[in-house]
Amino acid sequence: APPPPEMKGNQEYEKVGKLGNRILVFVRLRPMGKKEKEAGSRCCVKIVNRRDVYLTDFANDSDYLRLNRLRGRHFTFDASFPDVATQQEVYSTTTSELVEAVLQGRNGSVFCYGATGAGKTYTMLGTTDNPGVMVLAIKDLFSKIRQRSCDGNHGVHLSYLEVYNETVRDLISPGRPLVLREDKQGIVAAGLTQYRAYSTDEVMALLQQGNQNRTTEPTRANETSSRSHAILQVVVEYRIRDAAMNVVNKVGKLSLIDLAGSERALATDQRTVRSLEGANINRSLLALSSCINALVEGKKHVPFRNSKLTQLLKDSLGGACNTVMIANISPSHFSFGETQNTLHWADRAKEIRTKTCDATEDVVPVVETETDQAKLVLELQKEN
Ligand code: ADP
Ligand code: MG
Repeated sequence: APPPPEMKGNQEYEKVGKLGNRILVFVRLRPMGKKEKEAGSRCCVKIVNRRDVYLTDFANDSDYLRLNRLRGRHFTFDASFPDVATQQEVYSTTTSELVEAVLQGRNGSVFCYGATGAGKTYTMLGTTDNPGVMVLAIKDLFSKIRQRSCDGNHGVHLSYLEVYNETVRDLISPGRPLVLREDKQGIVAAGLTQYRAYSTDEVMALLQQGNQNRTTEPTRANETSSRSHAILQVVVEYRIRDAAMNVVNKVGKLSLIDLAGSERALATDQRTVRSLEGANINRSLLALSSCINALVEGKKHVPFRNSKLTQLLKDSLGGACNTVMIANISPSHFSFGETQNTLHWADRAKEIRTKTCDATEDVVPVVETETDQAKLVLELQKEN
Protein backbone atom coordinates (compact mmCIF):
# COMPACT_ATOMS: atom_id res chain seq x y z
CA ALA A 1 0.00 0.00 0.00
CA PRO A 2 1.23 3.51 -0.73
CA PRO A 3 2.10 5.65 2.28
CA PRO A 4 -0.55 8.16 3.38
CA PRO A 5 -0.33 11.55 1.69
CA GLU A 6 2.03 14.05 3.30
CA MET A 7 0.56 17.21 4.73
CA LYS A 8 0.74 20.28 2.58
CA GLY A 9 1.34 23.56 4.33
CA ASN A 10 -1.21 25.52 2.33
CA GLN A 11 -4.08 23.09 2.81
CA GLU A 12 -7.12 24.47 4.64
CA TYR A 13 -8.45 22.87 7.79
CA GLU A 14 -11.91 21.52 7.31
CA LYS A 15 -14.36 24.04 8.70
CA VAL A 16 -15.43 22.87 12.09
CA GLY A 17 -19.19 22.94 12.62
CA LYS A 18 -20.77 25.65 14.75
CA LEU A 19 -20.26 25.15 18.43
CA GLY A 20 -23.17 23.10 19.61
CA ASN A 21 -23.85 20.87 22.55
CA ARG A 22 -20.78 18.81 21.97
CA ILE A 23 -17.25 19.12 23.25
CA LEU A 24 -14.94 19.84 20.33
CA VAL A 25 -11.85 17.67 20.50
CA PHE A 26 -8.58 18.44 18.74
CA VAL A 27 -5.19 16.78 18.67
CA ARG A 28 -1.88 18.55 18.22
CA LEU A 29 1.33 16.71 17.43
CA ARG A 30 4.52 18.48 18.43
CA PRO A 31 7.78 18.30 16.45
CA MET A 32 10.40 15.72 17.41
CA GLY A 33 12.83 17.21 19.94
CA LYS A 34 16.58 17.38 19.46
CA LYS A 35 17.25 15.05 22.41
CA GLU A 36 14.74 12.54 21.12
CA LYS A 37 16.43 12.52 17.70
CA GLU A 38 19.84 12.02 19.29
CA ALA A 39 18.47 9.11 21.31
CA GLY A 40 17.34 7.39 18.08
CA SER A 41 13.67 8.16 18.46
CA ARG A 42 11.35 7.19 15.60
CA CYS A 43 8.07 8.85 14.73
CA CYS A 44 5.08 6.66 15.63
CA VAL A 45 2.28 9.10 14.76
CA LYS A 46 0.96 10.16 11.39
CA ILE A 47 -1.68 12.81 10.81
CA VAL A 48 -3.64 12.61 7.57
CA ASN A 49 -6.22 14.97 6.08
CA ARG A 50 -6.02 17.24 9.12
CA ARG A 51 -8.36 14.90 11.01
CA ASP A 52 -7.08 11.35 11.19
CA VAL A 53 -4.40 10.16 13.56
CA TYR A 54 -2.60 6.88 12.95
CA LEU A 55 -0.37 5.21 15.50
CA THR A 56 2.16 2.43 15.08
CA ASP A 57 4.26 0.65 17.67
CA PHE A 58 6.48 -0.88 14.95
CA ALA A 59 5.88 -4.30 16.52
CA ASN A 60 4.68 -6.06 13.39
CA ASP A 61 4.59 -3.58 10.64
CA SER A 62 5.42 0.05 10.17
CA ASP A 63 2.70 0.54 7.59
CA TYR A 64 0.22 3.00 9.07
CA LEU A 65 -2.54 2.25 6.59
CA ARG A 66 -2.63 -1.43 7.40
CA LEU A 67 -3.06 -0.49 11.05
CA ASN A 68 -6.16 1.46 10.07
CA ARG A 69 -8.43 -1.35 11.18
CA LEU A 70 -6.75 -2.12 14.46
CA ARG A 71 -8.67 -0.86 17.43
CA GLY A 72 -6.93 1.84 19.39
CA ARG A 73 -4.63 2.73 16.51
CA HIS A 74 -6.75 4.97 14.36
CA PHE A 75 -8.59 8.00 15.68
CA THR A 76 -10.40 10.88 14.10
CA PHE A 77 -11.06 14.30 15.64
CA ASP A 78 -12.65 17.65 14.80
CA ALA A 79 -9.21 18.57 13.54
CA SER A 80 -5.73 17.18 14.11
CA PHE A 81 -2.70 19.40 13.81
CA PRO A 82 0.56 18.06 12.38
CA ASP A 83 3.87 19.31 13.81
CA VAL A 84 4.08 22.08 11.20
CA ALA A 85 0.83 23.74 12.34
CA THR A 86 1.34 27.32 13.54
CA GLN A 87 0.06 28.81 16.80
CA GLN A 88 -2.27 31.00 14.75
CA GLU A 89 -3.72 28.00 12.91
CA VAL A 90 -4.31 26.20 16.20
CA TYR A 91 -5.94 29.29 17.72
CA SER A 92 -8.21 30.03 14.73
CA THR A 93 -9.41 26.46 14.36
CA THR A 94 -9.93 25.60 18.02
CA THR A 95 -10.74 28.79 19.90
CA SER A 96 -11.71 31.78 17.73
CA GLU A 97 -15.37 30.71 17.54
CA LEU A 98 -15.41 30.26 21.28
CA VAL A 99 -14.12 33.81 21.70
CA GLU A 100 -17.06 34.94 19.56
CA ALA A 101 -19.46 33.03 21.86
CA VAL A 102 -17.88 34.70 24.92
CA LEU A 103 -18.39 38.11 23.27
CA GLN A 104 -22.07 37.21 22.86
CA GLY A 105 -22.24 36.73 26.64
CA ARG A 106 -21.66 33.02 27.01
CA ASN A 107 -19.04 31.02 28.87
CA GLY A 108 -16.38 28.99 27.16
CA SER A 109 -13.41 26.88 28.10
CA VAL A 110 -10.42 25.40 26.40
CA PHE A 111 -8.24 22.84 27.98
CA CYS A 112 -5.03 21.18 26.98
CA TYR A 113 -4.07 17.82 28.24
CA GLY A 114 -1.49 15.17 27.57
CA ALA A 115 1.72 13.79 29.03
CA THR A 116 4.53 15.98 30.33
CA GLY A 117 6.55 17.31 27.41
CA ALA A 118 3.72 16.79 24.90
CA GLY A 119 3.32 20.53 24.22
CA LYS A 120 0.50 21.73 26.51
CA THR A 121 2.23 24.85 27.80
CA TYR A 122 3.59 25.65 24.34
CA THR A 123 0.04 25.46 22.98
CA MET A 124 -1.52 27.48 25.79
CA LEU A 125 1.10 30.08 26.62
CA GLY A 126 3.72 29.73 23.88
CA THR A 127 6.73 31.99 23.68
CA THR A 128 7.12 35.75 23.23
CA ASP A 129 7.81 35.18 19.52
CA ASN A 130 5.12 32.54 19.12
CA PRO A 131 2.34 33.33 21.59
CA GLY A 132 -0.15 30.55 22.27
CA VAL A 133 -3.90 30.23 22.60
CA MET A 134 -4.19 32.17 25.88
CA VAL A 135 -2.48 35.23 24.47
CA LEU A 136 -4.04 35.07 20.99
CA ALA A 137 -7.51 34.73 22.55
CA ILE A 138 -6.98 37.81 24.69
CA LYS A 139 -5.61 39.74 21.71
CA ASP A 140 -8.71 38.82 19.72
CA LEU A 141 -10.97 39.78 22.63
CA PHE A 142 -9.30 43.18 22.97
CA SER A 143 -9.60 44.04 19.30
CA LYS A 144 -13.21 42.86 18.93
CA ILE A 145 -14.40 44.62 22.08
CA ARG A 146 -12.77 47.86 20.91
CA GLN A 147 -14.58 47.57 17.58
CA ARG A 148 -17.96 46.79 19.09
CA SER A 149 -18.12 48.78 22.32
CA CYS A 150 -20.64 51.61 22.01
CA ASP A 151 -19.20 53.77 24.78
CA GLY A 152 -15.47 52.92 24.90
CA ASN A 153 -15.87 51.60 28.44
CA HIS A 154 -14.93 48.00 28.74
CA GLY A 155 -13.14 45.67 31.07
CA VAL A 156 -11.01 42.57 30.61
CA HIS A 157 -10.34 40.98 33.99
CA LEU A 158 -7.89 38.14 34.42
CA SER A 159 -7.33 35.64 37.17
CA TYR A 160 -4.69 32.94 37.03
CA LEU A 161 -4.56 30.11 39.53
CA GLU A 162 -3.08 26.68 39.98
CA VAL A 163 -4.35 23.50 41.55
CA TYR A 164 -1.52 21.47 42.96
CA ASN A 165 -2.01 18.54 45.32
CA GLU A 166 -5.57 19.67 46.05
CA THR A 167 -4.38 23.14 46.99
CA VAL A 168 -5.51 26.19 45.05
CA ARG A 169 -3.05 29.08 44.71
CA ASP A 170 -3.12 32.48 43.07
CA LEU A 171 -0.45 32.67 40.34
CA ILE A 172 -0.69 36.46 39.95
CA SER A 173 -0.17 37.25 43.64
CA PRO A 174 1.16 34.05 45.17
CA GLY A 175 0.50 33.64 48.84
CA ARG A 176 -1.61 31.50 51.06
CA PRO A 177 -3.79 28.74 49.58
CA LEU A 178 -7.26 29.88 48.51
CA VAL A 179 -10.52 28.43 49.75
CA LEU A 180 -13.21 27.40 47.25
CA ARG A 181 -16.70 28.65 47.96
CA GLU A 182 -19.96 28.00 46.23
CA ASP A 183 -22.00 31.09 45.41
CA LYS A 184 -24.75 32.00 42.94
CA GLN A 185 -22.30 32.15 40.04
CA GLY A 186 -20.85 28.74 40.86
CA ILE A 187 -17.59 27.82 42.53
CA VAL A 188 -15.28 30.74 43.28
CA ALA A 189 -11.84 30.92 44.87
CA ALA A 190 -12.14 33.41 47.72
CA GLY A 191 -9.63 36.27 47.54
CA LEU A 192 -8.35 35.47 44.04
CA THR A 193 -6.74 38.48 42.30
CA GLN A 194 -8.83 39.96 39.48
CA TYR A 195 -6.33 41.79 37.31
CA ARG A 196 -7.60 44.45 34.94
CA ALA A 197 -5.64 44.16 31.69
CA TYR A 198 -5.14 46.83 29.02
CA SER A 199 -2.80 45.33 26.43
CA THR A 200 -1.69 41.97 25.06
CA ASP A 201 2.02 42.55 25.78
CA GLU A 202 1.23 43.18 29.41
CA VAL A 203 -0.84 39.96 29.52
CA MET A 204 2.03 37.87 28.08
CA ALA A 205 4.40 39.22 30.74
CA LEU A 206 1.83 38.59 33.45
CA LEU A 207 1.24 35.00 32.36
CA GLN A 208 4.94 34.23 31.97
CA GLN A 209 5.47 35.56 35.48
CA GLY A 210 2.52 33.48 36.67
CA ASN A 211 3.99 30.36 35.09
CA GLN A 212 7.23 30.95 36.99
CA ASN A 213 5.13 30.66 40.12
CA ARG A 214 3.75 27.25 39.11
CA THR A 215 4.76 24.35 41.27
CA THR A 216 7.07 21.87 39.52
CA GLU A 217 8.52 18.60 40.68
CA PRO A 218 11.48 16.71 39.28
CA THR A 219 10.31 13.42 37.76
CA ARG A 220 13.35 12.11 35.98
CA ALA A 221 16.95 13.29 36.11
CA ASN A 222 17.51 16.65 34.37
CA GLU A 223 13.83 17.15 33.83
CA THR A 224 11.16 19.07 35.62
CA SER A 225 7.56 18.19 35.21
CA SER A 226 4.62 20.32 36.01
CA ARG A 227 2.26 18.48 38.31
CA SER A 228 -0.01 21.46 38.65
CA HIS A 229 -3.03 22.55 36.67
CA ALA A 230 -3.03 26.21 35.63
CA ILE A 231 -6.37 27.93 35.05
CA LEU A 232 -6.64 31.33 33.40
CA GLN A 233 -10.05 32.95 33.58
CA VAL A 234 -10.88 36.00 31.52
CA VAL A 235 -14.08 37.91 32.24
CA VAL A 236 -15.07 40.45 29.61
CA GLU A 237 -17.66 43.16 30.02
CA TYR A 238 -18.72 45.77 27.46
CA ARG A 239 -21.80 47.49 26.10
CA ILE A 240 -23.30 47.48 22.62
CA ARG A 241 -26.39 49.04 21.05
CA ASP A 242 -28.99 46.58 19.83
CA ALA A 243 -31.23 47.04 16.76
CA ALA A 244 -33.59 49.30 18.74
CA MET A 245 -30.58 51.41 19.82
CA ASN A 246 -30.92 50.29 23.44
CA VAL A 247 -27.69 49.82 25.39
CA VAL A 248 -27.11 46.16 26.20
CA ASN A 249 -24.50 44.97 28.69
CA LYS A 250 -22.52 41.90 27.63
CA VAL A 251 -20.60 39.74 30.10
CA GLY A 252 -18.83 36.51 29.20
CA LYS A 253 -16.19 34.28 30.72
CA LEU A 254 -13.44 32.34 29.00
CA SER A 255 -11.45 29.71 30.91
CA LEU A 256 -8.16 28.41 29.55
CA ILE A 257 -6.71 25.42 31.32
CA ASP A 258 -3.20 23.95 31.08
CA LEU A 259 -3.57 20.59 32.81
CA ALA A 260 -0.83 18.74 34.66
CA GLY A 261 1.00 15.90 32.91
CA SER A 262 -1.36 12.97 32.45
CA GLU A 263 1.27 10.23 32.23
CA ARG A 264 0.68 8.46 35.51
CA ALA A 265 -2.83 9.51 36.31
CA LEU A 266 -4.93 8.73 33.26
CA ALA A 267 -4.60 4.97 33.38
CA THR A 268 -7.20 3.04 31.44
CA ASP A 269 -7.14 -0.05 33.60
CA GLN A 270 -9.40 0.16 36.66
CA ARG A 271 -6.97 -1.75 38.83
CA THR A 272 -4.15 0.61 37.91
CA VAL A 273 -6.40 3.56 38.63
CA ARG A 274 -7.06 2.26 42.12
CA SER A 275 -3.46 1.57 42.92
CA LEU A 276 -2.56 5.04 41.69
CA GLU A 277 -5.27 6.44 43.88
CA GLY A 278 -3.72 4.56 46.77
CA ALA A 279 -0.41 6.21 46.00
CA ASN A 280 -2.31 9.52 45.93
CA ILE A 281 -1.01 10.60 42.56
CA ASN A 282 -2.79 13.59 41.19
CA ARG A 283 -6.28 13.17 42.55
CA SER A 284 -7.60 15.98 40.37
CA LEU A 285 -6.73 14.25 37.09
CA LEU A 286 -8.17 10.97 38.30
CA ALA A 287 -11.33 12.81 39.29
CA LEU A 288 -11.43 14.44 35.87
CA SER A 289 -11.22 11.06 34.18
CA SER A 290 -13.99 9.72 36.46
CA CYS A 291 -16.18 12.69 35.54
CA ILE A 292 -15.54 12.13 31.83
CA ASN A 293 -16.43 8.45 32.28
CA ALA A 294 -19.61 9.30 34.19
CA LEU A 295 -20.65 11.90 31.61
CA VAL A 296 -20.01 9.55 28.70
CA GLU A 297 -21.87 6.69 30.35
CA GLY A 298 -24.80 8.99 31.11
CA LYS A 299 -24.61 8.45 34.86
CA LYS A 300 -26.96 10.61 36.94
CA HIS A 301 -24.26 11.31 39.46
CA VAL A 302 -21.11 12.97 38.12
CA PRO A 303 -18.49 13.19 40.87
CA PHE A 304 -17.48 16.84 40.39
CA ARG A 305 -17.01 17.25 44.14
CA ASN A 306 -14.17 14.73 44.29
CA SER A 307 -11.43 17.23 43.53
CA LYS A 308 -10.64 20.92 43.37
CA LEU A 309 -10.05 20.79 39.62
CA THR A 310 -13.42 19.20 38.82
CA GLN A 311 -15.19 21.64 41.15
CA LEU A 312 -13.58 24.51 39.26
CA LEU A 313 -14.38 22.92 35.89
CA LYS A 314 -17.93 21.91 36.75
CA ASP A 315 -19.53 24.57 34.56
CA SER A 316 -17.11 23.75 31.73
CA LEU A 317 -17.63 20.01 31.54
CA GLY A 318 -21.19 19.48 32.56
CA GLY A 319 -22.90 22.81 32.37
CA ALA A 320 -23.86 25.61 30.09
CA CYS A 321 -20.59 26.04 28.39
CA ASN A 322 -18.85 25.65 25.09
CA THR A 323 -15.89 23.40 25.66
CA VAL A 324 -12.83 22.72 23.56
CA MET A 325 -10.23 20.10 24.34
CA ILE A 326 -6.80 20.02 22.80
CA ALA A 327 -4.92 16.78 23.33
CA ASN A 328 -1.19 17.22 22.94
CA ILE A 329 0.96 14.33 21.80
CA SER A 330 4.63 13.61 21.13
CA PRO A 331 5.71 11.92 17.88
CA SER A 332 8.36 9.78 19.59
CA HIS A 333 7.95 6.02 19.82
CA PHE A 334 9.41 6.33 23.33
CA SER A 335 6.08 7.91 24.29
CA PHE A 336 3.87 5.40 22.47
CA GLY A 337 1.96 4.29 25.58
CA GLU A 338 1.29 7.83 26.78
CA THR A 339 0.20 8.89 23.32
CA GLN A 340 -2.19 5.97 23.01
CA ASN A 341 -3.60 6.80 26.43
CA THR A 342 -4.08 10.47 25.55
CA LEU A 343 -5.79 9.57 22.27
CA HIS A 344 -8.03 7.10 24.06
CA TRP A 345 -9.24 9.80 26.45
CA ALA A 346 -9.61 12.37 23.70
CA ASP A 347 -11.67 9.85 21.75
CA ARG A 348 -13.92 9.32 24.76
CA ALA A 349 -14.32 13.02 25.35
CA LYS A 350 -15.93 13.36 21.91
CA GLU A 351 -19.04 11.65 23.29
CA ILE A 352 -19.70 14.21 26.01
CA ARG A 353 -22.72 16.38 25.32
CA THR A 354 -23.29 19.67 27.09
CA LYS A 355 -26.28 21.91 26.85
CA THR A 356 -25.54 25.39 25.55
CA CYS A 357 -27.56 28.22 27.00
CA ASP A 358 -27.15 31.13 29.41
CA ALA A 359 -24.43 30.63 31.95
CA THR A 360 -26.76 31.28 34.85
CA GLU A 361 -29.14 28.46 34.07
CA ASP A 362 -28.69 25.23 35.96
CA VAL A 363 -28.07 22.54 33.40
CA VAL A 364 -27.87 18.80 33.58
CA PRO A 365 -25.46 17.32 31.04
CA VAL A 366 -27.00 15.22 28.32
CA VAL A 367 -25.04 12.23 27.13
CA GLU A 368 -25.79 10.33 23.96
CA THR A 369 -25.40 6.80 25.21
CA GLU A 370 -26.50 5.25 21.97
CA THR A 371 -23.70 6.67 19.88
CA ASP A 372 -21.14 4.00 20.83
CA GLN A 373 -23.59 1.19 20.24
CA ALA A 374 -24.76 2.63 16.94
CA LYS A 375 -21.14 2.98 15.81
CA LEU A 376 -20.35 -0.59 16.79
CA VAL A 377 -23.39 -1.91 14.92
CA LEU A 378 -22.31 0.01 11.82
CA GLU A 379 -18.76 -1.31 12.08
CA LEU A 380 -19.99 -4.89 12.45
CA GLN A 381 -22.34 -4.49 9.51
CA LYS A 382 -19.45 -3.22 7.38
CA GLU A 383 -17.27 -6.13 8.47
CA ASN A 384 -20.00 -8.62 7.55
P1 ADP B 1 4.10 20.29 28.45
O1 ADP B 1 3.60 21.61 28.93
O2 ADP B 1 3.01 19.43 27.86
O3 ADP B 1 4.86 19.55 29.50
P2 ADP B 1 5.79 21.86 26.73
O4 ADP B 1 4.75 22.76 26.16
O5 ADP B 1 6.63 22.42 27.82
O6 ADP B 1 5.13 20.50 27.25
O7 ADP B 1 6.67 21.32 25.52
C1 ADP B 1 7.86 20.55 25.69
C2 ADP B 1 8.95 21.10 24.77
O8 ADP B 1 8.58 20.99 23.39
C3 ADP B 1 9.22 22.57 25.00
O9 ADP B 1 10.60 22.79 24.84
C4 ADP B 1 8.44 23.26 23.90
O10 ADP B 1 8.99 24.50 23.53
C5 ADP B 1 8.52 22.25 22.76
N1 ADP B 1 7.31 22.28 21.91
C6 ADP B 1 6.10 21.80 22.25
N2 ADP B 1 5.21 21.95 21.26
C7 ADP B 1 5.87 22.57 20.26
C8 ADP B 1 5.51 23.01 18.94
N3 ADP B 1 4.25 22.85 18.48
N4 ADP B 1 6.46 23.60 18.18
C9 ADP B 1 7.71 23.77 18.65
N5 ADP B 1 8.12 23.38 19.86
C10 ADP B 1 7.22 22.79 20.68
MG1 MG C 1 3.70 22.41 30.85
